[in-house]
Amino acid sequence: MAARRGRRARATVSTMTTEPPQIVEVETEVVSCDGGPLGHPKVWLNLGEEGHVDCPYCDCRFVLKPGSGHH
Ligand SMILES: [Zn+2]
Repeated sequence: MAARRGRRARATVSTMTTEPPQIVEVETEVVSCDGGPLGHPKVWLNLGEEGHVDCPYCDCRFVLKPGSGHH
């Protein structure tokens, strides 16, 4: 048998959270986000013509609910 080495098995636990951005459906083109449980300064976001916007703080994605608003 080979001599026992003092090397520890390295755990391959990833501490990086790569969760997909949360998608929030909204019915208005202007929404406010304060991060919910995580919390961040309240910001107002405009979905604009694209119909979606990502919060710069918590990466929540706000999308316009289909069939709402626009005439
Ligand atoms: Zn946010």
